[in-house]
Amino acid sequence: MRIDIVTLFPELCDSFLSASILGRARAKNLFEAHCHQIRDYTQNKQKQTDDYPYGGGCGMVLYAQPIADCLRAVQAQCAAQGRAKPHVVFLTAAGRPYTEADARRLAQYDAVTLVCGHYEGIDERVIEAFGDEEISIGDYVLTGGELASLVVADSVLRLQPGVLAEEKGYQDESYWDGLLEYPQYTRPEVWEGRAVPPVLLTGDHQKIDAWRAAQSRTRTRLRRPDLYARWCETHPLTPLPKWKRGENARLVKNDDQWQAAAALYAEGLRTVCADVCTVAYLETLTPQACREKLDAERRGGWAFYLHYTGGAADGMVGVCHKTGEIAHLFVAEPARGKGIGAKMLDFARKKLAEHPHPTLTVLDANTRALALYRRMGWRPAGVAAVYDPASDPTAAVYTQELRLRYEG
Ligand code: SAM
Repeated sequence: MRIDIVTLFPELCDSFLSASILGRARAKNLFEAHCHQIRDYTQNKQKQTDDYPYGGGCGMVLYAQPIADCLRAVQAQCAAQGRAKPHVVFLTAAGRPYTEADARRLAQYDAVTLVCGHYEGIDERVIEAFGDEEISIGDYVLTGGELASLVVADSVLRLQPGVLAEEKGYQDESYWDGLLEYPQYTRPEVWEGRAVPPVLLTGDHQKIDAWRAAQSRTRTRLRRPDLYARWCETHPLTPLPKWKRGENARLVKNDDQWQAAAALYAEGLRTVCADVCTVAYLETLTPQACREKLDAERRGGWAFYLHYTGGAADGMVGVCHKTGEIAHLFVAEPARGKGIGAKMLDFARKKLAEHPHPTLTVLDANTRALALYRRMGWRPAGVAAVYDPASDPTAAVYTQELRLRYEG
């Protein structure tokens, strides 16, 4: 790939492209970069590059002519190398916002030319005549386009084969899959009293990947709800899994069933609360305590259903016909990942046919469930409860219990 930067400060841009990872890649000819001085293309004696704006106003505007001639020279150089006409990008504060998707798109071109404005900007006519697009690197104004062009050049060039040591280097990073990256740690294990999350020291890569994926989803949901909503939409659920032979759902009626439901409830609750509640609280989540809670809820109008696979209870869900609520959707550990949760949620919603918009609650830390619910048509409808370690002795970290409403 060839990158050209058209600027009043070519040395500044060149020194950046000669340093560190990009500098090493450039020295190995993994890409070509050329920085051009706009002033060299002026036609006046003073080598003046700018003038007052027509119509008045403060500041100066860059002439069209030297930029146009510089772009023509770049086109000629590309043609002499047998390259296609370069894709021309003007860096402007009023351009389209730049994203990782744009970096990936621009990385596909054989030649990209980045044009930097200065002062009040550039004569619009040269943008119209030569520009393929205008890009802004953010909603703020810089004094010149050099930093913006280097942001674009850096994000595009690092995607060129061989520039980063491993392709995985960028595939794991923020925005690649539409999510922000998980937090990173290095030695020492404990720094100023802060320990590295224990899961990262286990050497169990399945667990580590699962932890990192959950961190990514949580961070994105909390910091960038816009990205998270888009990610959920673009990761649609495969069609609802079909009920298999030997699989069914039964109303909890007899004592064995109540015991099975209480055990599933206790195990499920401990799993979802593991990262957000204190150890002391987790220890109170026994099948016995859960059985008492289920009994109280039954008296309050709730009905519970168990999911059976070949006669063994491995999932549960509760519904309340009075209020249109769904709760306690849990699947036993060995039965997870088989679509039982999705099937039971669909089953519960259909049980509440008289409520077109049933509700349920979920901890904000349970991002896997949140993503599933979202893809099944459930949408946020407020915060049902807040667990704050400052006021709640059962809470280990600040957590919200979110209410979701079925919107179909
Ligand atoms: N008068 C312009 C406006 O209000 O949109 C701002 C001109 S700015 C002071 C000078 C140059 O900096 C621009 O021509 C552009 O090349 C660059 N620039 C400033 N902010 C930028 C941004 N957010 N993204 C990309 N380029 C920017």
